[in-house]
Parts: sequence; structure tokens; C-alpha cells
Amino acid sequence: MKASVKVDVAVIGGGVSGALVTDAILETGKTVAVFDRRGFTKGSTPASTALLQFEIDEPLIHLIDKIGRERAVRAYWASATAIDYLAARVSDLALSCGFRERCAVLLPGNILNARELRAEAAARSRVGLRSRFVDGAELRKLTTLDAAGAIWSAGAADVDPVALTDGLWRSALKRGATLYAPAEVTAVEPHRDFVTLSAKDGFDIRARHVVFATGYELLKLLEGTKHKISSTWVIATKPQPRKLWPTQCSIWEAADPYMYIRTTADGRVVAGGEDEDFSDEDHRDALLPAKTLALQRKLHKLLPHLDTTPDAAWTGSFGVSPDGLPAIGPIPRLNRCFAVMGFGGNGITFSAIAAKIIQRSLLGIPDASGELFPFFK
Ligand SMILES: Cc1cc2nc3c(=O)[nH]c(=O)nc-3n(C[C@H](O)[C@H](O)[C@H](O)COP(=O)(O)OP(=O)(O)OC[C@H]3O[C@@H](n4cnc5c(N)ncnc54)[C@H](O)[C@@H]3O)c2cc1C
Repeated sequence: MKASVKVDVAVIGGGVSGALVTDAILETGKTVAVFDRRGFTKGSTPASTALLQFEIDEPLIHLIDKIGRERAVRAYWASATAIDYLAARVSDLALSCGFRERCAVLLPGNILNARELRAEAAARSRVGLRSRFVDGAELRKLTTLDAAGAIWSAGAADVDPVALTDGLWRSALKRGATLYAPAEVTAVEPHRDFVTLSAKDGFDIRARHVVFATGYELLKLLEGTKHKISSTWVIATKPQPRKLWPTQCSIWEAADPYMYIRTTADGRVVAGGEDEDFSDEDHRDALLPAKTLALQRKLHKLLPHLDTTPDAAWTGSFGVSPDGLPAIGPIPRLNRCFAVMGFGGNGITFSAIAAKIIQRSLLGIPDASGELFPFFK
């Protein structure tokens, strides 16, 4: 930043959430300036394994118990339509980001056993979601996996998260957005008709609205919410396209801790999970060798014909909420300020939901999903 900035909407955060929100706001004709303290696509987004699933970490039957049937079903449907929205944006903007439609398999574990998976599949299919229970024989045919049964869902996808986010930023630049980095926002002061932000280098930003898409770093602003930061680990094998399972569906477990698996366009297998409930980055990084071994062993047990030798391994932090749902919308007590906090294994899908919610809100369009994801529950 070389001067103060005046704009319709200031977006703070250069990850996939900021990129999707910026794209949606540009569609309304408003001017947008974006600020990131590190650089664009440098936060948790590049660590993402980028499975796009409508299935929320919390099974539908459990979510119904926690937040009621109507809200739970609407949350699942918001997630399902968000993947269609992402597919449409990728196609409309001609983004070359490896977006591939997938099916998804949910295996039994200590959260849902095979009998409960059957009930979960029935609950989803009753409300029109594209899930069904498959028995052990069908599962073996689709995936080579050995289990008593699983949920088979259509409507999932995967993507290269860096290519998606960089593509969105390039498109935003072409459509008139201004991107600033490094530019750290250090203070926010809402007024009746505008918001003033202070940047670390001494310049001010004056905007009619502000969107915080700062990933889990936003938590400090919202102390008192029940959200937490967890640590997670990932391995990727060498390319082995001939050894992959027939459908190349994504695979995950109804378990805690769980493992999830996807393939990549060049035939690698990516497996992540082993999540732990702490946020200390040094401790997280120190556990990388042990977690790599644990993921490799688990992957070998599930898919013994694969070469599970890790070609890459990494770790990251992500937000978790008690019901697996994100927090999206106006920030309580901060007039004209919105925030996007995508949580759990569905962070990118939730960011797409957020983009639409904030877009409608800025346009003054009434939106029932606007109340689905409050900050304080
Ligand atoms: C290992 C791993 C695997 C994952 N797998 C999946 C998956 O399979 N599917 C899925 O949907 N999701 C997944 N997620 C979650 C998903 O990746 C995240 O929800 C998503 O990337 C978060 O994007 P973001 O833009 O909200 O945050 P970030 O990418 O972290 O971006 C936030 C940005 O805000 C900037 N910032 C913060 N504070 C300030 C400030 N004060 N001023 C200026 N800039 C600031 C930061 O520098 C950062 O660049 C995974 C996450 C991890 C870590």
C-alpha cells in the first residue's frame, strides 16, 4: 500500500474464501479491494486436500439431533448446491484448476457403524440427497475396499486448490479488483455508513462494507464462540495411475480420528486425517514423521495393492465447530462487517456458501440461509 484506499467493499484475506467472496461481490458491480498480510494463496488454502463434498463432518442424523431437522436438512442442501455453484463458476470463468466431478464413499467407523450408515443413507435419500447404502459386495466392485457396507454419494468433486484460488484472483484483477500484499489490517472501526480499517503501514482503508476472510486467524476477533483450532496431517504417494480403484471416488471414514483419501489428476493418492485437538504449530510440525507413518499404515490396510510410500507429506491447521458447521454472516456488534469461517473437512464448500450469502446480503436480497450459520450458537 502506498496510499489510503476508498472502496465499496474491502475483503481481508487472500485465500480461497476471500477469492470466492471477491468473485461474488464483483458480480454485483461493486468495487472491491483485497488485503493480505502474507500474500495471495499463502494461508491454509495451499495445504488443502480440496475434496468437495456435500457431506458435512457431522452425519445428518446427528445434526438433526443437534440443531433440528429443518436447519440440518437446509445445511446439507446448502452444501450440495455450493458444489454445483463452484462447478458453474469454474466453467463460467474458464478456470483451469483440475475440477473433477467425483462420487464419495463413507465407510463405517466409531461414529457410524454399518447399521447406522444404512439409517444415515435413508435419512439423506428421504430429503432428496444423492446417497444410498451399498453392501460389501457392491463396495468391493466400486472401490476394491473390504467393509460390511458404506454410503455411496454422487455430487462430490475435487480440485487443485491453488489453481482454483489463483485463477479466481487473476479473474478478479481483470474485472477491476485491486489486490494489496503485504497489507496487514490491524484495527477496525465501524461507523453508521462506512467502516475504517487501519493497515500496519499506517494507511487507512475506508469501505462501505468489510468482509473478513482471514481463515482461523479471525478467531481472536470473535472470542467467546465455541470454535477451536485443530491440527491435521496429509501424505501424497507417487503417481500410480494403473493401481487406482475403478471409480477413483473419494473415500472417508465415519470415525474419529478419521482418514480421507482422494486421487489426483496425475494418479497420486492423497490421504489425510489423524486430526488432533491442539493448535500449537511447533508441536504439530514435530509430529509430522509419526503421523506420516500412521497415515501410510492406515492407507496400506485399506488399499493393500497401492504403493503407499509417501512422496510428500505436510501438515496444517483448520477450524472446528461443535456441529461441523461454519460461521458466516454479519459479525455481531461490528456494523457493516461480515465474516467467513469455513470449518472442518468442508471448508471450501462452506466458503462457496459464504460467497453467495454475502453477495445476497450486500444486494439486500432476503436469504433464508443467511441465518443458518450464526457465530454464537
Ligand atoms: C491439511 C488440510 C486439508 C484440508 N482439506 C480440505 C478438504 O479436503 N476439503 C475442504 O473443503 N476443505 C479442506 N480444508 C479446509 C480448507 O482448506 C480451508 O477451510 C480453506 O482453505 C480456508 O481458506 P480461507 O481463505 O478461509 O483461509 P486461508 O487460506 O488461511 O486465508 C486467510 C488469509 O487471511 C490472511 N490474513 C489473516 N489475518 C489478516 C489480517 N489481519 N490482515 C491481512 N490479512 C490477514 C492470511 O495471511 C491468509 O492468507 C483443509 C485444510 C487443511 C489445513
